[in-house]
Amino acid sequence: MSIFKSSYKVICAFCKLNHRVYKKNGISALDAFLLLAVSGLFSFLIWGTADPRSLAIFALLIVIGHIFYRIRWRESVKCPHCGFDPVLYKRAPEEAAQKVKAFLSSRKDNPQYLLRPQPRIQPIIIPREEALVAKMNAKAPQVDIQV
Ligand SMILES: [Zn+2]
Repeated sequence: MSIFKSSYKVICAFCKLNHRVYKKNGISALDAFLLLAVSGLFSFLIWGTADPRSLAIFALLIVIGHIFYRIRWRESVKCPHCGFDPVLYKRAPEEAAQKVKAFLSSRKDNPQYLLRPQPRIQPIIIPREEALVAKMNAKAPQVDIQV
């Protein structure tokens, strides 16, 4: 992993395929310094001298930059192959599972994914006896007998 690269490879915990994730998820000190210089430049272009109103421009640029980096990082964390979102999984595992199911069902019908790497999802194998018992329990009628 190089210090000059803006992203690094990760392996998806769900489908075991790799994808790239951006390193930055917010504004760094260097970015803040550059935005301060840009806001100072705007101050000289607009008012002709250093003006405290340029601090409002600086704050606006910081907020916009931080939102941009955060959205970019958040979208890169999601797996492009299976739709697994580890950030959402830490917060709400059931919701993450529903999103993966929806992504995989939409992927199944989309011809764009035919030549892409296929997710290596291990099937859940249930022994025959357990499957039969679960099926019988699901089909068993619930009858209330009143005497
Ligand atoms: Zn994945």
